[in-house]
Amino acid sequence: MWFFSKEHRLLQETVRQFSHQELAPWIEKLDHEEGFNRESFLKMGELGLLGITVPEDDGGAGLDAVAATLTMEEMAAVDASTTLSYLAHSILCVHQISKNCHLEQKQKYLPKLISGEWIGGMGMSEPDAGSDALGMKTKAALEGPFYILNGSKTWITNGPVGEVFYCYAKTGPSKKDVSTFLIDRKMKGFTTGKKFSKMGMKASPTGELVFSDCPVPLQNRVGKEGKSIKMMMGNLDLERITISGISLGLARSSIEVATQYSKERKAFGKPIGAFQQIQERLTEASAWYAACRSLTYQAAKMWDLGLMRGKEASMMAAQAKLQSAQMATQVALDAIQILGGYGYTREFPVERYMRDAKLIEIGAGTNEILRVIIARQMLGAEVVDA
Ligand SMILES: Cc1cc2nc3c(=O)[nH]c(=O)nc-3n(C[C@H](O)[C@H](O)[C@H](O)COP(=O)(O)OP(=O)(O)OC[C@H]3O[C@@H](n4cnc5c(N)ncnc54)[C@H](O)[C@@H]3O)c2cc1C
Repeated sequence: MWFFSKEHRLLQETVRQFSHQELAPWIEKLDHEEGFNRESFLKMGELGLLGITVPEDDGGAGLDAVAATLTMEEMAAVDASTTLSYLAHSILCVHQISKNCHLEQKQKYLPKLISGEWIGGMGMSEPDAGSDALGMKTKAALEGPFYILNGSKTWITNGPVGEVFYCYAKTGPSKKDVSTFLIDRKMKGFTTGKKFSKMGMKASPTGELVFSDCPVPLQNRVGKEGKSIKMMMGNLDLERITISGISLGLARSSIEVATQYSKERKAFGKPIGAFQQIQERLTEASAWYAACRSLTYQAAKMWDLGLMRGKEASMMAAQAKLQSAQMATQVALDAIQILGGYGYTREFPVERYMRDAKLIEIGAGTNEILRVIIARQMLGAEVVDA
């Protein structure tokens, strides 16, 4: 990308090396066993990746959304599962603490999250409220120096392995009365429920967070009571830009494997790459990937320059994620088709790429919800929500 700085390119090279050394040797086994590469988080900590967007004054790397997206792309080209856990940790938890918490909270949580000693996550979705996030039912009632939390969160990335969760709960009767709380795994009345077995992203543990009369100290509330929606929505935009990097990494690897295979595999006496139908799949994949890559990094760069905020930012983040996610699934499916029987087996990684890519069409806003966001900008809420 023409606007990548020297620092970005150095980061790209560092993450590429890290991914080949620390992620590649384990991912097939972890994907099979639904394990978790805990060690890799300590190495990410050493490399300064866990607080990638956190200002240096707060102990982070002080880098931007372009850098975070680039990191996602490079890691996901090798292991999208660990990258998803990395995103939940670095963007949904650590970034939010650095951006929205007061000094005492930052001092308590950031050092161990940035070093990788603790794993973080974010709890917004609930069993009855996913796309309709403001329909959440988890309640926080103020009683003396504590908020008493009751309810549950579901599909939480890093739920089964995390120590700290950046969680949302209702503190009033209106849909808008959303507050944020920092939850420690050891808090009384807090448990992590079941771990889900999934179709893809198998090396990224996903689970429930359960609150039963869980007393959370007042000092663990983030920001003002009932004023969390703006912070929550702003982070969703950053999440959508950076998660598009995961789609890009998956697509790039699918294209690389399919291209190589098309040169080597022979049918009817020639390489299958000589057939125009194979060329069509490869060339469409390469063009769609390039278009999504431009859109995603443009969104990241505009975010960094502060050139878009509010609804404009939401629209561009939604456009980038909608296209990148669909592209990565289709490109992985095409790679499977190009590899024929081998593509359908675990002899090659493309079936894993497809299973992993599909998640990005659901998490961080489904394709349908992203289309609603874009349509609202194009047609106006009065038309779309009529
Ligand atoms: C692996 C994984 C990891 C996740 N990690 C996290 C996490 O770390 N933290 C967290 O808080 N959440 C997380 N999630 C939750 C994720 O964000 C939700 O699954 C997602 O927002 C969709 O919500 P839902 O599953 O309840 O689907 P629903 O909202 O029930 O939607 C079901 C279907 O209806 C469609 N639909 C809903 N509303 C509309 C509408 N208005 N117009 C058109 N179609 C509509 C949806 O697009 C979808 O196709 C994760 C999910 C998965 C699978």
